[in-house]
Amino acid sequence: MGKTAVKIGANVFQFFTRNPRGGAAKAIDPEDVKAFRLFAEEEGLCTLLAHAPYTINPCGADERVLNFARECFADDLDRMEYTPGNYYNFHPGSHVKQGVEKGIELIVETLDGAMFDGMKTTVLLETMAGKGTEIGGKFEEIAEIISRAKYNDKLGVCLDTCHVYDAGYDIVNDLDGVLEEFDRVIGLERLKAIHLNDSKNPFGSHKDRHEVIGGGSLGLKTFENVINHEKLRDLPFYLETPNELEGYAKEIALLKSRYRD
Ligand code: FE
Ligand code: FE
Ligand code: ZN
Repeated sequence: MGKTAVKIGANVFQFFTRNPRGGAAKAIDPEDVKAFRLFAEEEGLCTLLAHAPYTINPCGADERVLNFARECFADDLDRMEYTPGNYYNFHPGSHVKQGVEKGIELIVETLDGAMFDGMKTTVLLETMAGKGTEIGGKFEEIAEIISRAKYNDKLGVCLDTCHVYDAGYDIVNDLDGVLEEFDRVIGLERLKAIHLNDSKNPFGSHKDRHEVIGGGSLGLKTFENVINHEKLRDLPFYLETPNELEGYAKEIALLKSRYRD
């Protein structure tokens, strides 16, 4: 993964800890980890962002679903200790018919059960589009989870540009206003990473369909504003656009060309 990232001009990357649809993770080879860490240092690769599988629901209604999420979560956080100091990003989940309050309670329980004293990873809650009964489409929900969690000091937020726009935060016309709201509700010091995705759908649509950079309703200008914003420009940016490697290489080059030194 490190070699591929360098090849396409990246200096950060996001990866799945296991099959994104869930299931068992490959055993970790400590030699491979050692080689990676050396390579990352030589090549100047920065913060890694591990993404939890899409299919886990940390606030699932069904006990089996919930237990699976909690096992995955705990196992992932243990594995992350092989590469200390990085980020683990997850979708807060869908409360199904339990209601937001119950959902938040379950998410906090999931976090408290999987996180541990002395852990070196920061766990990031991803801002969501608010599709269906998804939690995390409102900054208030994220703030509530963080404030109730036991390992509060090891929690942060990953802002997904497609998701927030879908959720009704107008980063196209009022990026400053959205960041002010984020700061007021969550606190900008919690913002650790950005997912850069354009959106196939219009503002506030709650659909969560990613588009290539500049090809959707956000437009290239919005990404220029995001990557150069004084409060965001030093954060790591990750692409989750519908692309293959070659497409990612082009998007990275495009974004770099718009980044003002
Ligand atoms: Fe995600
Ligand atoms: Fe995302
Ligand atoms: Zn998404």
